[in-house]
Formats: sequence, structure tokens, C-alpha cells
Amino acid sequence: MNPYYDADKPHHRPDGFQNRYGDFTPRSVRDVLRWKREAKRAGLPRAPLDAPPVVRPDHAFLRANAGAGAAMQPALTFIGHSTVLAQLPAGTRGLTVLTDPMFSDRASPFSFAGPRRLQPPALTAAQLPHVDLVLISHNHYDHLDTASVRALAAQAGGPPLFVVPLGIGPWLARHGVRGAVELDWWDTHLLDTGGAVAEVTLTPAQHWSGRGLSDRLATLWGGFAVLAPEFHLFFAGDTGYSPDFTDIRSHFAALQGAAQGGGFDAALIPVGAYDPRWFMREQHVDPPEAVQIHLDLGAKRSIGIHWGTFALTDEALDQPPRHLAAARAAQGLAETDFSVMAIGETRRLPRRTTSPSPTKDNA
Ligand code: ZN
Ligand code: ZN
Repeated sequence: MNPYYDADKPHHRPDGFQNRYGDFTPRSVRDVLRWKREAKRAGLPRAPLDAPPVVRPDHAFLRANAGAGAAMQPALTFIGHSTVLAQLPAGTRGLTVLTDPMFSDRASPFSFAGPRRLQPPALTAAQLPHVDLVLISHNHYDHLDTASVRALAAQAGGPPLFVVPLGIGPWLARHGVRGAVELDWWDTHLLDTGGAVAEVTLTPAQHWSGRGLSDRLATLWGGFAVLAPEFHLFFAGDTGYSPDFTDIRSHFAALQGAAQGGGFDAALIPVGAYDPRWFMREQHVDPPEAVQIHLDLGAKRSIGIHWGTFALTDEALDQPPRHLAAARAAQGLAETDFSVMAIGETRRLPRRTTSPSPTKDNA
């Protein structure tokens, strides 16, 4: 039974949830075994040619920026996989956001296989600045991790607010997190950041959920739009390619006109875990599809996530950036339009400017 069931919502089902553009049929154990057998025969995934890039985190900057209040600079720090620390200027306090916290050594999309972490997280949970907001995209093991959730809930200075898709609240409550906000697709939660309001909206994605064989599709999945006055962040979660992203652009169009600063200032889009396509296409984009999502969203810049940490699928661990570079070139885009970050790298980004430049016509 789906306790959230609303017969008027097409993605609601009496026993769970579904995608908006074509029902997802969870792969059978037989398909999983076929995939694994074929991968083994072909020697996949191949060993990476290069280790994914890693840099020493700029702890001094992160700490100073965390304490900068109204002067906080927009900054994204790649911790690994889909875990990104986003420092967003908002009001007098700023807003520190963490996406899909995963700091543990093992993750698995299936209960019977447990990929080991191949790159340590850039920061431990204890090294993070105080996190205000944790966004969980869905309950797969590489995105919802018990030890990481517990560590954040116990952070110095009080727990962050967890904002999650429908159905993940009770799981969090069982792991000691109270007061999580559950959202349906297009639902918005407002956050006071000290004289300003940030809007957090759960957006649809084409994916699925489940931590075992008995709870598949039982809880909702999605991505998030975080609209702070001076920065609009998009986090796609896990997704296959679908028209959801042009829908998302339309949904926010009234707030993202040219005079309002334009589209998303940064989009975090998955670029890894895509081979073999016959198995992964409905649930994970490949880099060409990730580039199409970037274009569909009309984002100012995108950053590839969900790669370089866990070998979940058949492509080599270091393949996504090379594949992304080719996909980007095929669309005539520059590296600054859609790039990857080194694990530990912090990227400082401009604030959005909310009025047209008065000198625009004199250029
Ligand atoms: Zn997933
Ligand atoms: Zn994933």
C-alpha cells in the first residue's frame, strides 16, 4: 500500500510510484545475472587508464566562506559520487546544502552486491562546515547511506533539515532523523535564510527506488531545484533521459527570465553508471543524454556527478569525462558549459544578477 496515494496524480499508484513518461519495470534477477555474466565474459569494467582526479580540499576557504554570512560566495565542492557541498548566498546567513551524502565504504543498487568505494570522500562528514539542508534524491544505497545520515544528524550545532521525496521520511525517522520534510514532485518547501527565502522544489526524474526486492517503486525519487535569490541550483539525482527536463525548464520559466538572472546557475547532472545501455538506459543517462539535459534545462553551466567513486556498471571508472568531452564537442559546447570536477575541488561561481545591465545596448 502507498500511504500517499492520490488517484488524481498520474505518477501515484496504489502500491507506489511511477515515472511520468513510461512505466519503469524493475529488471528481473534473470536480467541482472545476464548483465553480470556478459560483463564477466567481456572483462568489464576495464581497469581505468587514469585514476579520477583528486585535489586537496581548500579547507580554509570552505571554513571562511561558511562564516561569511551575507558575503558568502556561491561555491560547489565535489566530495565524490553524487555528494556535493553547495554554499549558496542567501539572506544574512547563506545556505549550506549537501546532496546525497555518501561517506561510507560500500554502496549498492542491489542488496546482493556491494560495490566498494574506490576513492575516499574528499571530506569526512566531520570536516564539513555546518550543513543547513540535506537533499536526498532517492533511497538507492549510493544516495541514501545510513552511517552518513546518522553522522549528519549528529553534527555539531544541531542537525540539518532533510528534504526528501515522499516515503523516505519514515526511514529517516527510524534512523534518528526527526522533522524531515517530504515532498511530492513539484512541491516546494520555503526556507528562511535570514531576511531572504530559498525555495526547495522536488522535481521529477526518470528513475526508480528500492533498497531490497520487496520495496521497489514504493518510495518516490526525484531531483531538486534550490532557488535562492542569488543562486539557482539544480540537482538531477539519478535519471534516465526523458522530457521531464524541458518540463522543469517550463515550470521555472516565470522565475528565470533574462531580467531575473536567467536559468539555473549550475546544474548537477549524472554522467556515470550507464553501460550496458540495454540494461541502464531507462534509469541512467549516458554523457550525450546528460548534455541534452543540460540543453533542455537551459542551465548556465553543468557539472557531471555520479562517477569516479563506485564501479557500479560496465564502463571504466574514468570513462565518463572522456565520453562527456566527446558529447560536448558534438553539441559545440565548451568545457566551461559542462565539465567534471576533481574530487575535493571547489568551484567558485558568480552570483546571479537580477536586473539587466543598463549598458547592454551600448555594447
Ligand atoms: Zn539510483
Ligand atoms: Zn546512483
